[in-house]
Amino acid sequence: MSRFWSGIVHDLEPYVPGEQPKVANLIKLNTNENPYGPSPKVLEAIRFATSDQLRLYPDPNAQALKQAIAEYHQLDEAQVFVGNGSDEVLAHIFHAFFQHEAPLLFPDITYSFYPVYCQLYQIEFQKIPLTAEFEINIDDYQQPNSGIIFPNPNAPTGRLLALAEIEKLLIKNTDSVVVIDEAYIDFGGQSAITLINQYPNLLVTQTLSKSRSLAGIRLGYALGNVELIAGLIRVKDSFNSYPIDTLAIHAGVASFEDQPYFEQTCNKVISSRELVVNELTDLGFDILPSAANFVFARHPQIDAKVLADGLRKQGVIVRHFSDERISQFLRISIGTAEENQQLLAVLDSLV
Ligand SMILES: *Cc1c(COP(=O)(O)O)cnc(C)c1O
Repeated sequence: MSRFWSGIVHDLEPYVPGEQPKVANLIKLNTNENPYGPSPKVLEAIRFATSDQLRLYPDPNAQALKQAIAEYHQLDEAQVFVGNGSDEVLAHIFHAFFQHEAPLLFPDITYSFYPVYCQLYQIEFQKIPLTAEFEINIDDYQQPNSGIIFPNPNAPTGRLLALAEIEKLLIKNTDSVVVIDEAYIDFGGQSAITLINQYPNLLVTQTLSKSRSLAGIRLGYALGNVELIAGLIRVKDSFNSYPIDTLAIHAGVASFEDQPYFEQTCNKVISSRELVVNELTDLGFDILPSAANFVFARHPQIDAKVLADGLRKQGVIVRHFSDERISQFLRISIGTAEENQQLLAVLDSLV
């Protein structure tokens, strides 16, 4: 605490990211990173961009990257906003669209960065409880709001909301911005991007951190109506002119150019997930249906914190949240085949 801090900074409760351990040889299944490295073509592009040219500022509009993203999703470049990780994109979205009279609505169990942005930008919010089965019920969102946001699939539950439900929500909610955070959509969901040209209040965010194995490069984007994108650009140009560095621009473009690698690695993660679900079920775990690169599982007899600590002692880190409603769950990222076997072997010894 410091007398120099402003009132807002004094009251902030910052987001706490999953641990990035300093010791080697741990099996890291705690932050939903991709177990496979980025495409070799991405690494080649970064090497190519590592030159004298780094003395220059990057393109402030990251136009080459926007073009690649627009082409990939069959949208116009003016419907694309890029940022330094989707976390930064989300921060600008909160800043640009949610400071109104009514509260922002999001699920009680969801990405825990949302309430932090609300505190930072002084946005009222209301948490809408998930159903007993940890599902989003869109009828619960029919109330005055300054906006609606949730991840699809949701985090940390992994549960997917059908695209038809999202469309129903958009039909009923036309006066505020609806944001679908699709950080995990490539692992088994249908994207809401197809609805963008019909619903001018829809924003979809995606990231290169999970399905494209580039968490270390920090790239995320929002797709939506040109009017919404123009609002985000205003915020970005009032904050940081160059959020995307030269290496990131080259890496991102190369990633969208290597479709086969992207599909292969996503498919490997998806089939590993099915295997992990089956084996965890055999060990007695209850697992929520997952469309993400992680599973959310609880054991009816053994305390989740005890399991997380036991795993950690044997070199496997998973994520445990202390929030009461989910304190008996573990969020386990899908790893390589060897990492998953190691996880299952340790769990077998603990249950
Ligand atoms: C990982 C994650 C993000 C952030 O992704 P970055 O692009 O790495 O900042 C956003 N939303 C959800 C739900 C996530 O799980």
